[in-house]
Amino acid sequence: MSIRQQFNTMLNAAECAVTRCGSFRFATSDEKYDAKGLLGIAEVSDAENPADEDSFYVVSPGGAIGFCEDGEDIDWLFLTGTSEDEDLPATYQADPQINFCPKCGSGVVSGARFCGACGAKLNL
Ligand SMILES: [Zn+2]
Repeated sequence: MSIRQQFNTMLNAAECAVTRCGSFRFATSDEKYDAKGLLGIAEVSDAENPADEDSFYVVSPGGAIGFCEDGEDIDWLFLTGTSEDEDLPATYQADPQINFCPKCGSGVVSGARFCGACGAKLNL
């Protein structure tokens, strides 16, 4: 599993997270939040500790919220209340570079050996 979407504010991340999960747990304590509580906390956090330019928030597929301060390591702030054992990655993976198949022009992930659309062998 990888995390690829960035959010500039915790509120944006929280708005995404509440569409995936309905209850949250603060990572370093047993405090629990419902969707409304999470959005409230996020709003206060953004007002008091806005993320700087190099930092961003991420949301896991299950709804956990992490903070990425240097664009690499993820510090998970809010875990989902339901799936405590969600396998959360420790690092952020940027979007893979996209190249184009010389035969059919489809976008292919950098490093791929064959085009996923036409099957042509690639030497990218
Ligand atoms: Zn192709």
